[in-house]
Amino acid sequence: MPVENIEDRINALRKERGAVIFAHNYQRGEVQDIADVVGDSLELARRAREAEAGVIVLCGVHFMAQTAAILNPQKTVLIPDVNAGCPMACMVSAKGLKEFLAEHPEAYVVSYVNTTAEIKAMSDICCTSANALKVVESVPADREIVFLPDRNLGHYITKTTGREMTLWEGFCPTHERILPEFVEAARSAHPEAELCVHPECAPSVVDMADFVGSTSQILRHCAESDRESFIIGTEIGILHTLRKLAPGKEFFPATKLADCPDMKLIALEKIFWALRDMEPRVVVPPEVAERARGALERMVEITG
Ligand code: SF4
Repeated sequence: MPVENIEDRINALRKERGAVIFAHNYQRGEVQDIADVVGDSLELARRAREAEAGVIVLCGVHFMAQTAAILNPQKTVLIPDVNAGCPMACMVSAKGLKEFLAEHPEAYVVSYVNTTAEIKAMSDICCTSANALKVVESVPADREIVFLPDRNLGHYITKTTGREMTLWEGFCPTHERILPEFVEAARSAHPEAELCVHPECAPSVVDMADFVGSTSQILRHCAESDRESFIIGTEIGILHTLRKLAPGKEFFPATKLADCPDMKLIALEKIFWALRDMEPRVVVPPEVAERARGALERMVEITG
Protein backbone atom coordinates (compact mmCIF):
# COMPACT_ATOMS: atom_id res chain seq x y z
CA MET A 1 0.00 0.00 0.00
CA PRO A 2 1.55 3.35 -0.93
CA VAL A 3 2.41 5.66 1.94
CA GLU A 4 0.66 8.92 1.09
CA ASN A 5 1.18 11.54 3.73
CA ILE A 6 3.26 12.44 6.74
CA GLU A 7 0.73 11.04 9.24
CA ASP A 8 0.76 7.67 7.40
CA ARG A 9 4.54 7.66 7.43
CA ILE A 10 4.65 8.42 11.15
CA ASN A 11 2.06 5.73 11.88
CA ALA A 12 4.00 3.14 9.87
CA LEU A 13 7.24 3.98 11.66
CA ARG A 14 5.58 4.18 15.07
CA LYS A 15 4.39 0.60 14.56
CA GLU A 16 7.72 -0.61 13.20
CA ARG A 17 9.67 0.93 16.10
CA GLY A 18 7.18 -0.07 18.79
CA ALA A 19 7.01 3.60 19.79
CA VAL A 20 4.52 5.77 21.61
CA ILE A 21 4.15 9.48 20.95
CA PHE A 22 3.53 11.78 23.91
CA ALA A 23 2.53 15.41 23.39
CA HIS A 24 2.18 18.28 25.82
CA ASN A 25 -1.01 20.37 25.70
CA TYR A 26 1.03 23.33 24.42
CA GLN A 27 2.03 21.49 21.24
CA ARG A 28 0.74 22.34 17.78
CA GLY A 29 -2.73 20.92 17.07
CA GLU A 30 -1.51 18.47 14.45
CA VAL A 31 1.11 17.14 16.86
CA GLN A 32 -1.51 16.67 19.59
CA ASP A 33 -3.73 14.90 17.07
CA ILE A 34 -1.16 12.26 16.18
CA ALA A 35 -0.09 11.58 19.76
CA ASP A 36 -0.97 8.48 21.78
CA VAL A 37 -1.07 10.58 24.94
CA VAL A 38 -1.72 14.32 25.31
CA GLY A 39 -1.24 15.79 28.75
CA ASP A 40 0.42 18.24 31.07
CA SER A 41 3.83 17.69 32.68
CA LEU A 42 2.49 15.55 35.52
CA GLU A 43 0.42 13.34 33.23
CA LEU A 44 3.30 12.89 30.78
CA ALA A 45 5.69 12.05 33.62
CA ARG A 46 3.30 9.45 35.01
CA ARG A 47 2.61 7.91 31.62
CA ALA A 48 6.32 7.83 30.79
CA ARG A 49 7.03 6.03 34.05
CA GLU A 50 4.43 3.36 33.20
CA ALA A 51 5.16 3.12 29.46
CA GLU A 52 5.75 -0.37 28.15
CA ALA A 53 6.73 0.62 24.61
CA GLY A 54 10.46 0.53 23.93
CA VAL A 55 10.55 4.02 22.42
CA ILE A 56 8.96 7.22 23.70
CA VAL A 57 8.81 10.20 21.34
CA LEU A 58 8.39 13.18 23.66
CA CYS A 59 6.78 16.13 21.89
CA GLY A 60 7.46 18.87 24.38
CA VAL A 61 10.52 20.64 25.72
CA HIS A 62 13.82 19.14 26.79
CA PHE A 63 13.20 18.83 30.54
CA MET A 64 10.08 16.75 29.80
CA ALA A 65 12.11 14.28 27.75
CA GLN A 66 14.73 14.18 30.52
CA THR A 67 11.98 13.46 33.05
CA ALA A 68 10.75 10.54 30.94
CA ALA A 69 14.31 9.21 30.59
CA ILE A 70 14.88 9.44 34.34
CA LEU A 71 11.60 7.80 35.32
CA ASN A 72 11.88 4.97 32.80
CA PRO A 73 15.60 4.49 32.13
CA GLN A 74 15.17 1.27 30.13
CA LYS A 75 13.40 3.13 27.32
CA THR A 76 14.75 5.07 24.38
CA VAL A 77 13.49 8.64 24.66
CA LEU A 78 13.51 10.78 21.52
CA ILE A 79 12.82 14.51 21.30
CA PRO A 80 11.99 15.57 17.73
CA ASP A 81 13.90 18.85 18.07
CA VAL A 82 16.74 18.97 20.57
CA ASN A 83 16.62 22.78 20.53
CA ALA A 84 13.21 22.77 22.20
CA GLY A 85 14.31 24.01 25.59
CA CYS A 86 12.52 25.88 28.34
CA PRO A 87 13.83 29.40 29.06
CA MET A 88 12.50 29.15 32.60
CA ALA A 89 14.44 25.94 33.24
CA CYS A 90 17.57 27.70 31.97
CA MET A 91 17.17 30.43 34.60
CA VAL A 92 18.73 28.24 37.29
CA SER A 93 22.12 26.59 36.92
CA ALA A 94 23.69 24.00 39.21
CA LYS A 95 26.45 26.49 40.13
CA GLY A 96 23.93 29.26 40.87
CA LEU A 97 21.78 26.97 43.00
CA LYS A 98 24.76 25.68 44.93
CA GLU A 99 25.75 29.25 45.82
CA PHE A 100 22.14 30.11 46.71
CA LEU A 101 21.78 27.06 48.94
CA ALA A 102 24.98 27.94 50.75
CA GLU A 103 22.92 30.82 52.20
CA HIS A 104 20.06 28.43 53.08
CA PRO A 105 21.86 25.28 54.29
CA GLU A 106 18.86 23.80 56.12
CA ALA A 107 16.30 24.48 53.41
CA TYR A 108 14.04 21.89 51.85
CA VAL A 109 14.34 22.36 48.09
CA VAL A 110 11.12 22.15 46.08
CA SER A 111 11.77 22.32 42.35
CA TYR A 112 9.16 22.92 39.74
CA VAL A 113 9.45 20.17 37.14
CA ASN A 114 10.58 22.89 34.69
CA THR A 115 14.21 22.40 35.65
CA THR A 116 17.18 20.50 34.24
CA ALA A 117 18.07 17.04 35.51
CA GLU A 118 21.05 18.54 37.39
CA ILE A 119 18.73 20.82 39.37
CA LYS A 120 16.33 17.98 40.10
CA ALA A 121 19.30 16.01 41.40
CA MET A 122 19.91 18.83 43.92
CA SER A 123 16.25 18.93 45.04
CA ASP A 124 14.31 17.18 47.77
CA ILE A 125 11.10 16.98 45.76
CA CYS A 126 9.74 18.18 42.42
CA CYS A 127 6.26 19.43 41.67
CA THR A 128 4.16 20.48 38.72
CA SER A 129 1.59 23.25 38.76
CA ALA A 130 -1.04 20.49 39.10
CA ASN A 131 0.23 19.23 42.46
CA ALA A 132 2.36 22.15 43.72
CA LEU A 133 -0.02 23.08 46.56
CA LYS A 134 -0.09 19.52 47.90
CA VAL A 135 3.66 19.09 47.49
CA VAL A 136 4.36 22.23 49.51
CA GLU A 137 1.81 21.20 52.14
CA SER A 138 3.65 17.87 52.47
CA VAL A 139 6.84 19.61 53.67
CA PRO A 140 7.27 19.59 57.47
CA ALA A 141 6.08 22.92 58.89
CA ASP A 142 9.39 23.64 60.65
CA ARG A 143 11.48 23.47 57.47
CA GLU A 144 12.44 26.49 55.40
CA ILE A 145 11.40 25.93 51.77
CA VAL A 146 13.43 27.14 48.82
CA PHE A 147 11.12 27.07 45.79
CA LEU A 148 12.46 27.34 42.25
CA PRO A 149 12.57 28.51 39.56
CA ASP A 150 9.12 30.10 39.02
CA ARG A 151 8.57 33.12 41.26
CA ASN A 152 4.96 33.48 40.01
CA LEU A 153 3.96 29.92 40.88
CA GLY A 154 5.80 30.32 44.18
CA HIS A 155 3.91 33.53 44.93
CA TYR A 156 0.59 31.80 44.14
CA ILE A 157 1.42 28.84 46.40
CA THR A 158 2.28 31.14 49.30
CA LYS A 159 -0.88 33.19 48.77
CA THR A 160 -3.03 30.05 48.66
CA THR A 161 -1.46 27.95 51.41
CA GLY A 162 -0.07 30.70 53.66
CA ARG A 163 3.32 28.93 53.61
CA GLU A 164 6.22 31.36 53.36
CA MET A 165 8.94 30.25 50.94
CA THR A 166 12.23 31.63 49.68
CA LEU A 167 11.68 32.13 45.95
CA TRP A 168 14.06 31.92 43.03
CA GLU A 169 13.53 34.82 40.63
CA GLY A 170 12.70 32.79 37.51
CA PHE A 171 9.67 33.11 35.27
CA CYS A 172 8.11 31.85 32.07
CA PRO A 173 8.52 34.46 29.30
CA THR A 174 5.44 33.11 27.52
CA HIS A 175 3.13 33.49 30.52
CA GLU A 176 4.61 36.87 31.41
CA ARG A 177 3.45 38.12 28.01
CA ILE A 178 -0.13 37.82 29.31
CA LEU A 179 -0.45 41.41 30.55
CA PRO A 180 -3.36 42.80 32.60
CA GLU A 181 -4.29 45.17 29.76
CA PHE A 182 -4.62 42.22 27.35
CA VAL A 183 -6.85 40.44 29.84
CA GLU A 184 -8.98 43.59 30.25
CA ALA A 185 -9.36 43.85 26.48
CA ALA A 186 -10.38 40.18 26.21
CA ARG A 187 -12.90 40.67 29.00
CA SER A 188 -14.39 43.71 27.28
CA ALA A 189 -14.70 41.74 24.04
CA HIS A 190 -16.22 38.69 25.79
CA PRO A 191 -17.94 39.92 28.96
CA GLU A 192 -19.87 36.66 29.36
CA ALA A 193 -16.72 34.53 29.43
CA GLU A 194 -15.09 33.11 32.55
CA LEU A 195 -11.41 33.97 32.95
CA CYS A 196 -9.20 30.93 33.60
CA VAL A 197 -5.54 31.59 34.33
CA HIS A 198 -2.42 29.52 34.91
CA PRO A 199 -0.39 30.33 38.05
CA GLU A 200 2.74 30.89 35.93
CA CYS A 201 1.14 34.24 35.00
CA ALA A 202 2.14 37.37 36.90
CA PRO A 203 0.31 37.91 40.23
CA SER A 204 -1.49 40.96 38.76
CA VAL A 205 -3.09 38.66 36.16
CA VAL A 206 -3.77 35.78 38.57
CA ASP A 207 -5.60 38.26 40.83
CA MET A 208 -8.02 39.06 37.99
CA ALA A 209 -8.98 35.42 37.36
CA ASP A 210 -12.26 33.66 38.07
CA PHE A 211 -10.41 30.35 38.12
CA VAL A 212 -6.71 29.62 38.68
CA GLY A 213 -5.31 26.22 37.82
CA SER A 214 -2.74 24.13 36.06
CA THR A 215 -3.18 23.04 32.46
CA SER A 216 -5.01 19.86 33.45
CA GLN A 217 -7.10 21.71 36.04
CA ILE A 218 -8.16 24.34 33.47
CA LEU A 219 -9.12 21.55 31.04
CA ARG A 220 -11.18 19.76 33.65
CA HIS A 221 -12.80 22.94 34.92
CA CYS A 222 -13.89 24.12 31.47
CA ALA A 223 -15.23 20.68 30.50
CA GLU A 224 -17.26 20.33 33.71
CA SER A 225 -18.42 23.94 34.09
CA ASP A 226 -21.96 25.07 33.25
CA ARG A 227 -20.46 28.15 31.59
CA GLU A 228 -20.35 28.29 27.81
CA SER A 229 -17.38 30.55 27.10
CA PHE A 230 -13.95 31.06 28.58
CA ILE A 231 -10.96 33.37 28.27
CA ILE A 232 -7.82 31.28 28.67
CA GLY A 233 -4.72 32.77 30.27
CA THR A 234 -2.06 30.23 29.46
CA GLU A 235 -0.07 29.00 26.44
CA ILE A 236 -2.38 29.02 23.45
CA GLY A 237 -1.74 25.40 22.39
CA ILE A 238 -4.23 24.43 25.09
CA LEU A 239 -7.04 25.95 23.00
CA HIS A 240 -6.77 23.01 20.60
CA THR A 241 -7.15 20.52 23.45
CA LEU A 242 -10.07 22.51 24.91
CA ARG A 243 -11.95 22.74 21.61
CA LYS A 244 -11.66 18.98 21.13
CA LEU A 245 -12.65 18.31 24.73
CA ALA A 246 -15.67 20.64 24.77
CA PRO A 247 -16.67 21.28 21.14
CA GLY A 248 -19.89 23.07 22.06
CA LYS A 249 -18.12 25.75 24.09
CA GLU A 250 -16.20 28.87 23.10
CA PHE A 251 -12.59 29.54 24.07
CA PHE A 252 -10.70 32.78 23.59
CA PRO A 253 -7.00 33.40 24.29
CA ALA A 254 -6.22 36.15 26.80
CA THR A 255 -3.62 37.09 24.18
CA LYS A 256 -2.33 35.29 21.12
CA LEU A 257 1.16 36.37 22.19
CA ALA A 258 1.17 33.55 24.75
CA ASP A 259 2.69 31.23 22.18
CA CYS A 260 5.76 29.35 23.40
CA PRO A 261 8.30 29.28 20.56
CA ASP A 262 10.13 26.31 22.06
CA MET A 263 7.01 24.17 22.25
CA LYS A 264 6.23 25.03 18.65
CA LEU A 265 9.61 23.79 17.41
CA ILE A 266 8.14 20.30 17.31
CA ALA A 267 6.48 19.56 13.96
CA LEU A 268 5.21 16.45 12.19
CA GLU A 269 8.25 16.26 9.89
CA LYS A 270 10.56 16.22 12.89
CA ILE A 271 8.56 13.42 14.53
CA PHE A 272 8.95 11.44 11.33
CA TRP A 273 12.71 12.11 11.18
CA ALA A 274 13.13 11.19 14.84
CA LEU A 275 11.40 7.85 14.32
CA ARG A 276 13.27 7.21 11.09
CA ASP A 277 16.74 8.03 12.47
CA MET A 278 16.08 7.12 16.14
CA GLU A 279 17.51 10.45 17.23
CA PRO A 280 17.91 12.94 18.84
CA ARG A 281 17.98 10.74 21.91
CA VAL A 282 17.80 12.22 25.38
CA VAL A 283 20.20 10.51 27.75
CA VAL A 284 20.69 11.59 31.34
CA PRO A 285 24.01 10.55 32.92
CA PRO A 286 23.23 7.68 35.34
CA GLU A 287 24.73 9.40 38.40
CA VAL A 288 22.55 12.51 37.78
CA ALA A 289 19.46 10.42 36.93
CA GLU A 290 19.89 8.37 40.10
CA ARG A 291 19.81 11.48 42.30
CA ALA A 292 17.03 13.19 40.34
CA ARG A 293 14.80 10.10 40.35
CA GLY A 294 14.01 10.33 44.06
CA ALA A 295 12.70 13.90 43.76
CA LEU A 296 10.64 12.95 40.70
CA GLU A 297 9.27 9.76 42.24
CA ARG A 298 8.10 11.76 45.24
CA MET A 299 6.39 14.18 42.81
CA VAL A 300 4.44 11.58 40.82
CA GLU A 301 3.16 9.99 44.02
CA ILE A 302 1.33 13.21 44.96
CA THR A 303 -1.83 13.64 42.90
CA GLY A 304 -2.94 16.96 41.49
S1 SF4 B 1 5.50 27.80 28.15
FE1 SF4 B 1 7.03 28.71 29.52
S2 SF4 B 1 7.44 27.18 31.06
FE2 SF4 B 1 6.45 26.14 29.31
S3 SF4 B 1 8.16 25.43 28.03
FE3 SF4 B 1 7.55 27.45 27.24
S4 SF4 B 1 8.92 28.88 28.34
FE4 SF4 B 1 9.02 26.93 29.47
